[in-house]
Amino acid sequence: MDCLFCRIIAGEIPADVVHTDDRSVAFRDINPQAPTHILVIPREHIESLDEATQRDESTLGHLLRVAARLANQEGLSESGYRTVINTGAGAGQSVFHLHLHVLGGRQMNWPPG
Ligand code: AMP
Repeated sequence: MDCLFCRIIAGEIPADVVHTDDRSVAFRDINPQAPTHILVIPREHIESLDEATQRDESTLGHLLRVAARLANQEGLSESGYRTVINTGAGAGQSVFHLHLHVLGGRQMNWPPG
């Protein structure tokens, strides 16, 4: 298993895990870009959003719901938060296991870099 995030799911690499359920795991980003920076990932290895199929639709929806719940738990509902999925190296994806960034706790700018 050479996928970093699969190894985190398997408990082989330590992470600051904030949520687990039967379909997803969420943990704090090791290099946070905001006061709150959480990654929500599917337990199943999906390389990127581009690789997701119709079969993955409910998992994708689940990841979004988990992201919103965690943002709420972090106290971000009122101030706002951003959810990001980088797809492909050209868009900044560096780990090829689908993940949803949840960022908040500071002012977010648009357009993103
Ligand atoms: P992306 O660039 O969209 O693929 O996001 C990958 C994210 O994974 C980056 O924000 C990294 O800081 C984060 N990351 C890499 N290794 C780890 C790790 N061992 N634990 C937590 N986050 C990590």
